[in-house]
Amino acid sequence: MANPLFDRLFAPHQNRQSPFLHLADGTTVTHDAFLRTSARFANTLTALGLAPGDRVAVQVAKSPEALAVYAACVRAGVVFLPLNTAYTPAEVSYFVENSGARLLLCDGGARDALQPVADAAGAILHSLDADGGGSFAQLAADQGDSHKPVAREADDLAAFLYTSGTTGRSKGAMLTQQNLLSNAEVLVDYWRFTDRDVLLHALPIFHTHGLFVATNVILASGGSMIFLPKFDLDEMLRLMPRATAMMGVPTFYTRLLDDARFTGDLARHMRLFVSGSAPLLAETHERFEQRTGHRILERYGMTETNMNTSNPYEGERRAGTVGFALPGTEVIVTDPATGNPLPQGEIGQIEVRGPNVFKGYWQMPEKTAEELRENGFFITGDLGQFDEKGYLSIVGRNKDLIISGGYNIYPKEIELILDEQPGVLESAVIGVPHPDFGESVVGVLVAEPGATPDTDAIAGALGGELARFKQPRRLVVVDELPRNTMGKVQKNLLRDRFADSFAPAN
Ligand code: ATP
Ligand code: MG
Repeated sequence: MANPLFDRLFAPHQNRQSPFLHLADGTTVTHDAFLRTSARFANTLTALGLAPGDRVAVQVAKSPEALAVYAACVRAGVVFLPLNTAYTPAEVSYFVENSGARLLLCDGGARDALQPVADAAGAILHSLDADGGGSFAQLAADQGDSHKPVAREADDLAAFLYTSGTTGRSKGAMLTQQNLLSNAEVLVDYWRFTDRDVLLHALPIFHTHGLFVATNVILASGGSMIFLPKFDLDEMLRLMPRATAMMGVPTFYTRLLDDARFTGDLARHMRLFVSGSAPLLAETHERFEQRTGHRILERYGMTETNMNTSNPYEGERRAGTVGFALPGTEVIVTDPATGNPLPQGEIGQIEVRGPNVFKGYWQMPEKTAEELRENGFFITGDLGQFDEKGYLSIVGRNKDLIISGGYNIYPKEIELILDEQPGVLESAVIGVPHPDFGESVVGVLVAEPGATPDTDAIAGALGGELARFKQPRRLVVVDELPRNTMGKVQKNLLRDRFADSFAPAN
């Protein structure tokens, strides 16, 4: 009776007294202690009446206990459903009802606000931390610390992960044991992780990057993590000399670089810096290499597939690209009209096939059928192209492509130029309806602090750099770009806001 994910990620660490988690206060949690907690939690799940296949929604601050809930779910065959800690009760209500979760775990402080949510959804509510009577942790204290993992098939669900909701309402991606396992195994090899690695972990654990990439790689390699509740610059600088690797989003890198205390010396034991979840600017790449001598390794993944591509560990790490398909995973670029693969150099939709590709969206059969082809390829919704050496670069999202007067316009090309203009902090380029051209281009700018970008001068400068059909016909300055809780720009909201830009006056 096997449980493949437990057997590969957790079982080898039983009775291991070496550290698994190093906490900011200097204490450590051993592999063995972590597994004992997860056993107590698994017994508690069963005592609360949860059966294999049931869902547990978890909205709690990052902590060793929060991570132990993940391990407990794997043990008990229960589907782990982590939720972004920034979600409001109204948002949590949608996820709990949509997923049919039977148990909702929250932080003590959120209990009162979430009780009506749980009641309405018919779910049990417990706080994870010990806050007075009847918390999950207190129930667990009465349970034994041994637990026999429930048998699972590779194709059984291990987790439900809702997408970030950048392009619309979040979708529940159903991830199997095999999805998580295959990726973890490949990455250990590809990125050369061993039990001597110490990962500086400041990512959230409710998102694919921090959980199914970073944490699973450490579990599969037997290494340890410096486990920080969130990105905190002082803590990162203090603890980096004890780490061998770091995984982060691009803003981690820019925030480190913007601080003069961040020197190459702090990274002296580091062998690997990984970036993903959003595009890493070439400029950040260069600044980082100058400061530390390290070239950041950029990767590409998503909720539905964990990881698709990575720049090589050895060999050239190309700025502006996300590297090559991981072993066992196929990545192709196809013509959206025909679905046929395109020649190298042409831009098309990125499709992915492999053991990492999810089972489908929960209760969205039509959406699943649209995006998961019968031949097994998943249409990612991202646009990309291969360069002459086979490196993939991401050009943007399919939904953000602008078609004006029959021409395809890729917003990223224009944004890169806008970002360079005097007084401009960042930009987003969108297409909105135009009576003659179908769509036309609007450039939305955010000013640098204290600056007032001169939109006429910028329009003039773009004239020298871009073909006429790509030039924004309207440039507007806004206070900030709308972002979701993962920090990704929500262009659909900008399109709504500026929809009337070219409407005929009546
Ligand atoms: P939703 O699907 O709900 O609109 P989302 O796609 O932002 O939200 P995630 O699964 O968290 O949700 O994000 C995956 C997306 O992040 C990818 O499809 C891609 O657009 C983007 N992404 C990930 N890594 C990179 C990278 N290295 N460079 C550029 N974009 C990236
Ligand atoms: Mg997506």
